[in-house]
Amino acid sequence: MAPPHFLLVTFPGQGHINPSLQFAKRVVRVGAQVTFVTAVRAHNRMAESKSPPEGLSFASFSDGYDGGVEDGADVEVYMDELKRRGSETLSDLIASNFKNGWQFSGVFYTTLLPWVADVARSHGIPSTLVWIQPATVLDFYYYYFHGYGDLIRSTGDNPSVPIQLPGLPPLMASDIPSFCNAKNEYNFSLPLFQRHFEILLEEANPKVLANTFDALEQDAIRAVDKFEVIGIGPLIPSAFLDGQDPSDTSFGGDLFKSSSGYIEWLDTKPKTSVIYLSFGSISVLSKPQKEEMARALVEASRPFLWVIRESGKEEKEEDSLSLKEELEKLGMIVPWCSQVQVLSHPSVGCFVTHCGWNSTSESLVCGVPVVAFPQWSDQQTNAKLVTDVWRTGVKVTQNEEGLVEGGEIRRCLELVMGDGEEGDEMRRNAQKLRDLAREAVREGGSSDKNLRAFVDEVREASE
Ligand code: UDP
Repeated sequence: MAPPHFLLVTFPGQGHINPSLQFAKRVVRVGAQVTFVTAVRAHNRMAESKSPPEGLSFASFSDGYDGGVEDGADVEVYMDELKRRGSETLSDLIASNFKNGWQFSGVFYTTLLPWVADVARSHGIPSTLVWIQPATVLDFYYYYFHGYGDLIRSTGDNPSVPIQLPGLPPLMASDIPSFCNAKNEYNFSLPLFQRHFEILLEEANPKVLANTFDALEQDAIRAVDKFEVIGIGPLIPSAFLDGQDPSDTSFGGDLFKSSSGYIEWLDTKPKTSVIYLSFGSISVLSKPQKEEMARALVEASRPFLWVIRESGKEEKEEDSLSLKEELEKLGMIVPWCSQVQVLSHPSVGCFVTHCGWNSTSESLVCGVPVVAFPQWSDQQTNAKLVTDVWRTGVKVTQNEEGLVEGGEIRRCLELVMGDGEEGDEMRRNAQKLRDLAREAVREGGSSDKNLRAFVDEVREASE
């Protein structure tokens, strides 16, 4: 009997490609085959990296932006094109396989791509959502569309009164996903989440595979009884997690060019002495915010590694920072790095992060405490989990103009890096979660068992 063969379709952003690639590798490891599909520009970058394991193959479709999506492009127009062109190509791919006498056993699609399920259904193939944010955020969106929308929208009127949703920690207005607050400017997002739930609830036995693990979000995983949330994470390269595949040292799909020399530089620094700062692949700090960050770093007088992505402007942003010379004496600024490699380096003692879910899970897996600096989307909620539920970090507070001042950043850095009781507790908690994450993905651990059971079920159904 041939192994089950899945089609996995993912959004062409770094925060989607990374966990999806790891997911694909895990599915292959438990005895299935995967065809990984994304848009051309992401696919081309992945093709440049080392060869994939046997059982994993790649395909791509044009979303109309093969050369890249320029700054300021209309997101709604982009999402429509992605859906239109993606649906056509996937449908053709499935139909041509069918003509050749075989069919995918199942289709996986990641967050923001509910239309993939429609394509799968039109060909009679079962499909499963792979949710690449925490279960808490999945539940939150479910509640938003199912009975709690008015309550959630009212948080803006009473910013200091928390709302209590079943199975979730109490959430203030500043903790909820930005797409659900009154100031949300991204109209494309909520209809996509709503469609995700419509599709799920039309299924007889809806299941969501989520990039989390049982011990991390025990309550959230079980909070909603309308669908089953199956923890299969954290989706991090094996070498940094369970060591089962020591050659799996990178995600292998970096959309940005990494610089060099930073690991050698980290090698020269004492254990847990370095502050690592990165805000993911999308967020850009304003110029005044970067200046405040620079002031905090100079005043903290600790070594640091700071990722400032090149924005394509003539002048490089770091060249125009007013404290450039002082910064150069203390640390390094790079346009991109291999983040899991950096976080697992023994000299890194603190991660100043925007709390994207991948960055957050990577901080947990590497046992590095964080200064949470959330920007948008699910990051506020992830920051809440980090600071109040897992207690592996502290969140910065903005002033009335929305700026986080240098003094505030410095205060948070000292809390995390300093010798005080709070820093000790965060480090202890981070170590504990690191151990639990490794336990979850090892052979026989909860995430390993969950994924095997899922694939076995598909295998049996197709026999
Ligand atoms: N990343 C990286 N190098 C960098 C910055 C980010 O490899 O210099 C990776 C990081 O490890 C993570 C992903 O990019 O896997 C960013 O995903 P996340 O969900 O944290 O944020 P997003 O980019 O979606 O906002």
